[in-house]
Amino acid sequence: MVSDLSANRCSIVWFRDDLRVSDNPALTAAIARDRPVVGLFVLDEESDGLRPIGAASRWWLNTSIEGLARELLRLNIPLILRRGRADAVVNDIVVAAGADAVFWNRRYGPAERAVDASLKESLTAAGIIVESHAASLLFEPWTLKPATAPYYRVFTPFWRAALGSAPPRRPLPVPKQATQGAPRLSGARLADWRLHPTSPDWSGGLEATWTPGEAGARTRLDAFLSGGIGSYATERDRPALAATSRLSPHLRFGEISPHQVWHAAASRPPGGDGDKFLSEIGWREFCWHLHYHLPDLAGRAFNPRFEAFPWRSDPAALTAWQRGETGYPIIDAGMRELWHTGWMHNRVRMLTASFLAKTLMIDWRLGEAWFWDTLVDADPANNPAGWQWVAGCGADAAPYFRIFNPVLQAEKFDPDGAYIRRWVPALRAAPGKTVHRPQAPSSAGLLDAETGYAPPIVDLQVARQRALAAFKAL
Ligand SMILES: Cc1cc2nc3c(=O)[nH]c(=O)nc-3n(C[C@H](O)[C@H](O)[C@H](O)COP(=O)(O)OP(=O)(O)OC[C@H]3O[C@@H](n4cnc5c(N)ncnc54)[C@H](O)[C@@H]3O)c2cc1C
Repeated sequence: MVSDLSANRCSIVWFRDDLRVSDNPALTAAIARDRPVVGLFVLDEESDGLRPIGAASRWWLNTSIEGLARELLRLNIPLILRRGRADAVVNDIVVAAGADAVFWNRRYGPAERAVDASLKESLTAAGIIVESHAASLLFEPWTLKPATAPYYRVFTPFWRAALGSAPPRRPLPVPKQATQGAPRLSGARLADWRLHPTSPDWSGGLEATWTPGEAGARTRLDAFLSGGIGSYATERDRPALAATSRLSPHLRFGEISPHQVWHAAASRPPGGDGDKFLSEIGWREFCWHLHYHLPDLAGRAFNPRFEAFPWRSDPAALTAWQRGETGYPIIDAGMRELWHTGWMHNRVRMLTASFLAKTLMIDWRLGEAWFWDTLVDADPANNPAGWQWVAGCGADAAPYFRIFNPVLQAEKFDPDGAYIRRWVPALRAAPGKTVHRPQAPSSAGLLDAETGYAPPIVDLQVARQRALAAFKAL
């Protein structure tokens, strides 16, 4: 009898932005080979062009990896942690495990694609099977293409084309257990990566707000489907209400797939709030479509005219914005919500971004970088695309001359001031509509004697004229 030497060889599943066991096509395919499976997560901060994740994302990742490791053990799969350049680490693990196949779900950022393509080439040349699967987007970015351009620059036709193409596949269930006998390999200890902040540990507010991991994602989705989605279209712009899904960090880390979200939401009666929610999932697809085609979405304005924009250098104003001390209540509430919970409501993201890029005329890239560091959902596509959209320099962007007035916006979307009162304690007792308005400016820039709240750092009308003049001169 001829023995099959490859019969006992194992498969590697390399986890990246897909930290889940359900609806994970790479994992399901690896287990279906009926060979032992090893899971791998690489903390890669070294490969060319990869953007190291920010502090809030590191906090999230820490707990998410712990949860994934537990779920994988139930499936007989050890999760090996390694730090370093992904190409070196994956090659090393393949040899150490005696693996003959590597599975992963695709990444769509240009730098990540370059890493994956070169690894696929070298592994394949070495006789290793490499399988990549579609998992984190509903529509592969290259499959949607307008007739006369290489990619879509405007959301509406993009989404129309997406909805007119083959519907998203149905989610996969949690796979059966993998064949026993995965090799024992050495790996890093998660604690040694120091993803959780120490000295000081500022994560208390994040801890109180979120449950990273696949189970936490499922709980969020179920809660939204049985509550918020019913009034999503009408209430999603009200930051004081829990009217949106808050699934963004779970989607960012792939603890839930867009397919799972899509089919759960699409099973509701068509029209109205459900469709509005699905179109927001569509915005995520659109941002990734842009990121796939634009290598430097976070560094370069989509509209090249903006490369010559006279951004102001104003470190004191930037710090006031970051700390939520601008003297504009809705702006300060948003920046404090962000600092405390690692998340900010979408409407307030628009207002705070507009305040920085337009009212203060500070380069949107500095705001994008701050969000990148402080958001638990900091997303390589959604964050720069959101900033470019607000700053007026992106694809399908809000025009630069549309400058949000933070007082009028607060009156409209936080009419009773509940959101402001929650995040700006100094204004908790402010009577009625005064809660929306800045305090009287004091020439000395002192805090208001009665409330202790900061005076406005800029006059809205003066700032508006300054921004419009700069834009006109462009
Ligand atoms: C300046 C700025 C920066 C942003 N940075 C990020 C970011 O880093 N990460 C991120 O996920 N979103 C970002 N967004 C988009 C949006 O604010 C968040 O996705 C949303 O607030 C998350 O809350 P939710 O999960 O309750 O959203 P829901 O309203 O429940 O929407 C469901 C999902 O759809 C997607 N989505 C919703 N709105 C958008 C949008 N405008 N663009 C892209 N995807 C969207 C998200 O994945 C979201 O979880 C940014 C928006 C702006 C204006």
